Amino acid sequence: MAEVALRGVSKSYGNVDVIHDVSLDVGQGEFVVFVGPSGCGKSTLMRMIAGLEEVTRGDVLIGGERVNDTAARDRGVAMVFQNYALYPHMSVRDNMAFGLRNIGTPRPEIDSRIAKAAEILQLDRYLDRKPRAMSGGQRQRVAIGRAIVREPKVFLFDEPLSNLDANLRVQMRTEIARLHHRLDATMIYVTHDQTEAMTMADRIVVLRAGVIEQVGAPLDLYERP
Ligand code: ADP
Ligand code: ADP
Repeated sequence: MAEVALRGVSKSYGNVDVIHDVSLDVGQGEFVVFVGPSGCGKSTLMRMIAGLEEVTRGDVLIGGERVNDTAARDRGVAMVFQNYALYPHMSVRDNMAFGLRNIGTPRPEIDSRIAKAAEILQLDRYLDRKPRAMSGGQRQRVAIGRAIVREPKVFLFDEPLSNLDANLRVQMRTEIARLHHRLDATMIYVTHDQTEAMTMADRIVVLRAGVIEQVGAPLDLYERP
């Protein structure tokens, strides 16, 4: 059974169709990368899976259940954005704790999840710092940490490394790959960096103007003569 399934999903803003009849199955533990030109609908698809955007037609299924009407926080999905979306005035620890406190997670449970995420991301020494005093790479680690503590079944990454310099991008790529192995989570990842797509993806989905143009393993899409 697919962990995430799109069934004939379309999205319109007013009269403008931006996603047309997209169907896709993403398996449990799979790492799927969405690529395609700016404006082709990558973010819109991610936001519909996350529950941050309504579906106009079709169904989104997570763990086999239709979630079209399920709130974002109840989907078992966590999203990591390009711009981190952190609270700059709160400590790293409080940034990670915030969403869990909102849903009433007990304090000891919050603390243990934060400790685990900090260990995975090597953020132990930074828990009392504020994001505004940290580098871009460290901030993006915090943003990933905030996703990890939700213990989602599905991680959605929307161009998470685009704001980082080339060296850091390579380093973070490795870290996200390691995270994928360690957590055995399903990951959907948007990028317009072909190297990122090639090195990270189990499967690449090429979008163009709101439709899936191609789906395949990296070598099938890019290196066939
Ligand atoms: P990508 O992530 O691939 O760059 P998006 O999903 O952001 O593409 O956008 C897909 C299309 O939908 C674009 O044409 C964009 O202008 C349009 N779009 C996105 N959000 C809105 C919105 N809130 N209202 C109207 N049009 C939108
Ligand atoms: P709120 O809706 O008041 O933000 P939530 O408990 O839903 O409260 O979310 C808490 C935190 O988690 C917020 O910082 C929010 O931006 C973030 N969040 C909410 N939904 C998601 C999601 N699908 N993926 C990642 N972060 C999310």
